[in-house]
Order: sequence, then structure tokens, then C-alpha cells
Amino acid sequence: MSLLSIIVPCYNEEESLEIFYHTVQETLKPLKMDIEYIFVDDGSIDGTLSKLKNLHKAKGHVHYVSFSRNFGKEAAVFAGLRESRGDAVVVLDADLQHPPSVILEMAALWEDGYEVIEGKKSNRGRESFLHKLMAATFYKMISGFMKMDMNDSSDYKFMDRKVVDVLCSLKERNTFFRALSFWTGFKTVGVTYAVQERTVGKTKWSPTALVKYACNNLISFTVAPLYMIVTVGLLFFVIGLALAIDAVVDHYMGIAVEGYPTLVILLVIATGCILFSIGITGVYIAKIYDEIKERPQYIIRERE
Ligand code: UDP
Ligand code: MG
Repeated sequence: MSLLSIIVPCYNEEESLEIFYHTVQETLKPLKMDIEYIFVDDGSIDGTLSKLKNLHKAKGHVHYVSFSRNFGKEAAVFAGLRESRGDAVVVLDADLQHPPSVILEMAALWEDGYEVIEGKKSNRGRESFLHKLMAATFYKMISGFMKMDMNDSSDYKFMDRKVVDVLCSLKERNTFFRALSFWTGFKTVGVTYAVQERTVGKTKWSPTALVKYACNNLISFTVAPLYMIVTVGLLFFVIGLALAIDAVVDHYMGIAVEGYPTLVILLVIATGCILFSIGITGVYIAKIYDEIKERPQYIIRERE
């Protein structure tokens, strides 16, 4: 019988873990696959780790990895992927916002030969208007840059071993799991699911964390902003050239204008553009700096 690895990133999820485990076990009874669980404790500061230890003692197929500190969900997902041994792997949140019943559908599609089965949100659950707006903008941008439809995508994914092996072999540390599985190019299909309310606990995302997440992912995934700078720079060059020619012509025709306002406006716009561009370039340099240090994406304190 083939083995399914269930990977669960956990950050301060002490209240969710038991409900999560029992719900998933109950839901997956009809599944004709062996199951192993890999919980990744992402440096939780509550009782998550001791809950995981108990669960591991009670159930042989429950394994855990515990980070030395909080490294973020991306790191947790990748640590889980590296620990997994399954012929297929599914990643889902500990708070049951990703309904486990969808795994049955995903497994059926996997049997049919699909290699990446992507959970797509049919709704976005209860989120603030600002959160929704930001998410929509971010996915529009990244979908445009990457020429793939990322809207409604989520981290709820079922993958074949082939895909997991490719993801684990990547050397980059600023990963963006959601887009990378697309990027691998394996046979992909989507399954829609309704985002559930969080069972217990509360979301770990603050608005600033979200903005940071969006910027980081955009920059780690695409160099399109750098090209945008080039385009804008070129545009300004052309406009500047036209204005310069105009000024010279005016000068020889003896109608040199007082032009002060134009000058100020141009100066302000140009300075703004230059600073913005240097900023974007700087962010990429920072990323390169980050990557060449070759620090690990996460540090494991213990695993079982
Ligand atoms: N998570 C994590 N590390 C973090 C933040 C979150 O491993 O730094 C986990 C969290 O325990 C949960 C999943 O990632 O299993 C999704 O987090 P959350 O429910 O807070 O986010 P939301 O569902 O609101 O996007
Ligand atoms: Mg959640």
C-alpha cells in the first residue's frame, strides 16, 4: 500500500493539535493509503511541542520536527517536505481551515495520474476588507509576472513524490511554496474547497506581516520589478529628450520661457523615480546578500 505523508506546520497550535489529529484520522478512514504525520513545530512558545511529544508516544505514525525558534511557515513546510517519506504528500494547516475531506478527492486525482493537486479557495473565509484587497492585488501582480493564475491559490497541496523531491533539491532559501509547485511544471489540477473558520486559537498574521510576506515572495520569485525600473527610466529619458529639444528650439527662436515650474516638477519626479529605483535594486541586493550567506532556512532542535 502506498504511503501518504501529512505535513502540518504548527506555530502555537496547542489547542488545535488533538482536534486536528482526530478529525483527520476520522475523515481519512475511507482512504486506502497508509498515513504518516509530520508536524513541524515552528518555534512555538506555548505547549505545542509537549502536545506533539504525547501524540508521538501514543501514535507510532506521528512524527515531529521542532525548530530552535520561529522561522515562518515557509520554512516549516519545507522542513516537513524534507522529513517526509510518503509516495504522496499533503500539506495543510493545523487549524482545520483546510477541510481534510478534500484529501480524499485529491488522493483520487493523484491515482488518476495528477502530480500536483492544488487546493483552491472558493471563498476567503472571514477576512477584513483590507486583507482581501491586499491579497487580491498581490495575486494579480504575481499572476501577471508569472503568467499563471495564482488567484484563489493556497498552501493546501497534495503532491507526488517526484514533485517533493524537486522542491527539496532547490537551493534557494527565500522560498515561495505556493508558486514553486506551479513552477515545477508537473501535471497540475485544482480542487476547490471552502475555507473553514479557524477552530480554535487565532490567526498569526498581522497586516505588516502580510505586506512583508507579499513583498518577499514577489521579490524572491521574480525580477520583473527591475525591468519595470528600466522601462520607467527609458520613458523618462524619452520625455526628457523631447523637452530638451523643445528648450533648444525655443532658445533659438528667442522665446525661452521662464520654465521654472517645469523644472521643479521634473526635478521632483525624477528624484522620486531614482530613489524608488535604487530602493528596488537595493532590495534585490539584500536578497542576494541573504542567499550568499547560505544560512539554513531553519534550524532543527529535535525530531522524532
Ligand atoms: N504557521 C507557522 N509558522 C508561522 C505562522 C503560522 O507554522 O510563523 C502555521 C500555523 O500554525 C497554521 C498555518 O501556518 O498551521 C497557517 O497559519 P494561520 O492559521 O495563522 O494563518 P491563516 O490561516 O490566517 O492564513
Ligand atoms: Mg489559519
